[in-house]
Amino acid sequence: MGYNPGMIEPHAPVAVYPGSFDPFHEGHVAIVDRATRIFPNVVVGILQNAGKDALFSPAERAEMVREIYQNNPAVEVRAFSGLLVNFLQEIDATIIIRGMRAVSDFEYEFQMALMNRRLYPEVETVFLTPKEEYLYLSSRLVREVVALGGDVDGLVPDPVRDRLEERYRKVTHPPTR
Ligand code: ADP
Repeated sequence: MGYNPGMIEPHAPVAVYPGSFDPFHEGHVAIVDRATRIFPNVVVGILQNAGKDALFSPAERAEMVREIYQNNPAVEVRAFSGLLVNFLQEIDATIIIRGMRAVSDFEYEFQMALMNRRLYPEVETVFLTPKEEYLYLSSRLVREVVALGGDVDGLVPDPVRDRLEERYRKVTHPPTR
């Protein structure tokens, strides 16, 4: 049977890549790259959690990610709070993208995927494999290294590095009165 363009679903599904992204790093960039190869519309969903050790506000995180993808119409950035499945339904999305770094991620991710499917049966969770060189990378590690004065060049995109430098300068050299 030959290629039949008539069989292609005209409405491509919208995929959401949810996370705290505090901050967004190169491991996240690699997952978005892969996701856009499969799905034409990828929404980076920034969870507005009220974590007390948050480095950047959800608005700051969204601003940085928007800057990274400002020239890529396939990627949209939205902040959300509450249940992920409610956010998906709100924007008519049916796909959840997650990165699976190690076996230690598996149990939590598997439970979440099943719970999300129970809450919203139309949803599919798609796990993408990380880029090997960023396997060890996490937002927590980036925050810790920066707080201790370490260099994260090459581990975070430029807009994030600039904000981190700015934030770090403020912390180490508070303005004198
Ligand atoms: P959360 O706070 O939900 O763990 P994160 O912002 O840390 O969110 O991560 C969001 C998603 O990105 C998760 O699916 C996570 O597995 C994935 N991820 C985090 N770090 C990496 C990495 N280094 N490589 C690939 N995927 C990653």
